Amino acid sequence: MLPFVNLSGQYRAYREEIDAAISEVLGSGFPVGGPAVETLEQLLAEDLGCGHVVTCASGTDALSLSLAALGLKPGDEVIVPDYTFVATAEAVAIAGGIPRFADVGNDFLISPNSVEALVSERTVGMIAVDLFGQCADYPVLCAIARRHGLWILEDAAQGIGSSQGGKFAGTFGKIAAASFYPTKPFGAYGDGGAVMTADKVLAERVKILASHGKSNGRYEFLGKNSRLDAVQAAVLLVKRKHLREEISRRNENAKIYDELFGDFPEISSPKIPSGNSCIYAQYPVCTKARDEIVQKISAAGVPTRIYYERPLSEEPCFAHLKTAREDSRRNENARRLSKESFCLPICAFTDASEVAAKIRTALSP
Ligand SMILES: *Cc1c(COP(=O)(O)O)cnc(C)c1O
Repeated sequence: MLPFVNLSGQYRAYREEIDAAISEVLGSGFPVGGPAVETLEQLLAEDLGCGHVVTCASGTDALSLSLAALGLKPGDEVIVPDYTFVATAEAVAIAGGIPRFADVGNDFLISPNSVEALVSERTVGMIAVDLFGQCADYPVLCAIARRHGLWILEDAAQGIGSSQGGKFAGTFGKIAAASFYPTKPFGAYGDGGAVMTADKVLAERVKILASHGKSNGRYEFLGKNSRLDAVQAAVLLVKRKHLREEISRRNENAKIYDELFGDFPEISSPKIPSGNSCIYAQYPVCTKARDEIVQKISAAGVPTRIYYERPLSEEPCFAHLKTAREDSRRNENARRLSKESFCLPICAFTDASEVAAKIRTALSP
């Protein structure tokens, strides 16, 4: 079986640079924080054009710290997509907030109409997810947010490097979260995350909360320990240099799959609207006969993943929320996608021509 994400192929390609960067950190006396972390924060802020970047221990922490900095209070409602990684909604619920689950469109992204229908007096904001590496519909979402006085937290865990209308993911909300988990398109060799914002006060608050709430020499707030270690920062500084190239290879791979599925009309492939540039964190396809097709493709040695097995509103961890059951009933598309979609390997070190040839043979009569 081929790897789903070819991390060892990527390491072989950058080995010298990565090994040198790691040794430098080990000899620097700054295992946590220090120059590598500071440089990464500065360069990312410049690359994305987002003002401030504050690194932390994971994408999940980036979401939690953002919600805390936004002042989320117990009982506040936050609208999230019903079809995303659990962390998006978990962060809201752990903070005592109530995640309200909006349906998604055929593009897997949060549906603005569904968001608007969920706005109540208790709604304080929404989390839009750049799922599978494509920006959500920000012009429409921002208009809804303005109309109702809501904030947007952009979950860009899968989106760093993608753009919409010339603006990079991580810059659309009042605040945004990134993940550097190894299999994300911009990944380290361990956990890591970052918060992006143009708002200096929010950035400062995140920084304080990530460091036990310490401000001006006193523990002003209840915070936590959430730091990026310097080895991960050094790895990310190397991978940053190759990110553009990797993104174009992901796009070339996507083109190969688009052509393949052009010949299999029962399988629908992603349509990226003009104005959006997608980084293909995943390449999701949909078909009514998913389980049978996945079985055939797997038998041919092509790994697949199902993201996600069910809408979040149906996960047991949200079963205590009465609203989750109500929301769930409306979210037909999220339910359908969880039954019909699966993802193919797409990273820059995947040979998509080889994968496509195997799939073609496996699916041909
Ligand atoms: C991966 C991911 C997260 C969480 O990131 P971690 O670094 O694994 O904590 C949050 N949201 C989405 C959409 C993700 O894909």
